[in-house]
Amino acid sequence: MDHQNHPYSLVAAKLDWQDGVPSAKDYGDVYFSRDDGLAESRYVFLQHNRLEERWRQLDGSTQGRFTVCETGFGTGLNFLLTCELWLRTAPPSWTLHYISCEKHPLTPGDLHRALSAWPSLRELSTILQDNYPPLIPGQHRRYLHKSQICLDLLFGDILDTLPQLLDSVCPNSPEGAIDAWFLDGFAPATNPGMWQPALFDSMARLSHCGSSFATFTSAGLVKRGLRDVGFVVHKVKGYGRKRDMLCGEFEHYRDACSAESASQRLPLARLPWHQPGSEQAPQTALVIGGGLAGCSTARALAERGIAVTLIERHPVLASEASGNPQGVLYTKLSPEPGALNWFTLNSFLFALAHYRPILRKAPHCGDFCGVLQLPGSEREADLMTRLQDKLYDQPWLEFVTPERASTLSGLNIDRDGIFYPQAGWLSPPDICAAYVAHPLIERIHHREVATLVDDGKQWQALSADGQLIASAEAAVVAGSHEASRLSQCSWLPLRRIRGQLSYFHSDDIAASPQCVVCHDGYFAPPRDGVFCLGASFDLHHIGTDLSAADHQFNIDTLAKLSPSLLKDGAKPFGGRAALRCASPDYMPIVGAVPDAAAFDRDYAGLRKDAKQAIPNPGRYHRQLYVNVAHGSRGLTSTPLSAELIAAYLCSESRPLPRQLAEPLSPARFLIRDLMRNRR
Ligand code: SAM
Repeated sequence: MDHQNHPYSLVAAKLDWQDGVPSAKDYGDVYFSRDDGLAESRYVFLQHNRLEERWRQLDGSTQGRFTVCETGFGTGLNFLLTCELWLRTAPPSWTLHYISCEKHPLTPGDLHRALSAWPSLRELSTILQDNYPPLIPGQHRRYLHKSQICLDLLFGDILDTLPQLLDSVCPNSPEGAIDAWFLDGFAPATNPGMWQPALFDSMARLSHCGSSFATFTSAGLVKRGLRDVGFVVHKVKGYGRKRDMLCGEFEHYRDACSAESASQRLPLARLPWHQPGSEQAPQTALVIGGGLAGCSTARALAERGIAVTLIERHPVLASEASGNPQGVLYTKLSPEPGALNWFTLNSFLFALAHYRPILRKAPHCGDFCGVLQLPGSEREADLMTRLQDKLYDQPWLEFVTPERASTLSGLNIDRDGIFYPQAGWLSPPDICAAYVAHPLIERIHHREVATLVDDGKQWQALSADGQLIASAEAAVVAGSHEASRLSQCSWLPLRRIRGQLSYFHSDDIAASPQCVVCHDGYFAPPRDGVFCLGASFDLHHIGTDLSAADHQFNIDTLAKLSPSLLKDGAKPFGGRAALRCASPDYMPIVGAVPDAAAFDRDYAGLRKDAKQAIPNPGRYHRQLYVNVAHGSRGLTSTPLSAELIAAYLCSESRPLPRQLAEPLSPARFLIRDLMRNRR
């Protein structure tokens, strides 16, 4: 399925139940053995991948990831058993990265019913159910059990989703590739569509020497398919009454694809310019910028054992666009496919899960009281109606009538809208403070980085007078539009968009909403007796002084929601203006920093023929990344972006598919300009 064309459609599993054991109507096969599902799963997948033995040998004095990839998540039984063993045997400093592909996910109700068969797994199964993603195609990343487990659920056909991981790891690198395969999926006879040469080819290209696999089946086509691409295959005794099963290890890659099946796999380098070379994970990193992008990146790196020096020119964190006292965890979805909409959806769903534990630990950081989105124009109302046709029956959003919207918000609402029950408002400065509270993050304030110099091993951050501020093996530029002051990023097309908030005392407002209401502006419940109304949107002025015109804009916007909300004569007692940073296509800019001069030379042919396929891999600055242009949605987009930067730096499998990593890549602007002959 091409996700770009069907961003919301996914067919859930259709189940039959017999004695508490689910089977799939469409495949006529069971999800786990009727005899002893737990014992069979442990025997086939855990034992025959030698997981306990391998995990007991991991070096507890270091941090790392062990990656398992499964074909067919189903009820999550294999996942839970793997987690249970991991938590018992692996060093706590390591992370289990469990990637599972699932074409027809169970509904939450069916998942609950299936997992209630295993009382011994209750605790872990509750955690899984609390974090189970909505049935939306694509990749869903969730951290569980104090981040000791990273679950990537890839909803969609494995023949589409697995190749999306391919260029996200360094081929043949023991760090980045899959360490163990669980080849589940229904029996080849009932599900021939999955057991294809393209699956074996993807497996081989994601494996390193010594990657193991195990599968319940001993079918000849599986045995041959795996051997043909480079696995050593052993036929061993199956579980219980089953005669045989297969297990083995990967040796080295063999291209065994016929012309027909080769057309099914994605070429490794669909856009060769996009692939930054993979390097060893650094032990130290600089992060420049102490707003949401910088602090979330610093935290994602520190969680992986990297010692971070965060440099912020202001005396406190979150002093610019991330400094508003209230920000909304918000999304605006479109019925149209496309990268921007897909990223908007993915990053929103990730952010909802990401902030939950932070809020639990530090409730003063915000309130997930729900967000009501109302259309600001007829066009927006029409888009909402079209969205409703595609996104009905999803628990994370509710299409609401004016009556229901009024009940939820406690205001008089005259329009249909969308309610996001799990979202709300957050205080970006408090979130930044929570991110940097980590022993591996050190901060340097009051210093402004004017130059970044690479001495071949370290990036040196220098001030305008040439003084060394700090140095580290890797650097991430997260300083919003200031990024373009650094010579390596000077060509980034960053826009500044001024926005102003207006503050009112609670006595000035006639009614307080029970949830955040987003219309042309936003109207949130008061914080410490203060309403923050916002925000204006101004592309022409780049000052940050408060303006009377912007206050009036915010007042008029609130009046459009309801003219009686602001009491007669009420005036803002203050406000805050800041500059958002955006890109021309409104996608954030997240990824490796390309060597612009080398790009100009290597891809010069695009000036004459924009469609020319130039096979040169892109040339990038060593260990230099950028994470900017989050516009007014930084709360939503920065958590997933920080994960992406961390995955690049540590050669991990990415948190989002290649079709999204490419449109986020900074190099896209160089390539576009060359294609238009503008460079
Ligand atoms: N591992 C699961 C567990 O622990 O419960 C059981 C897996 S069940 C036997 C097989 C699963 O493979 C089903 O959930 C099915 O929807 C999934 N599946 C079948 N064909 C697939 C495909 N082409 N792509 C992804 N998933 C597929």
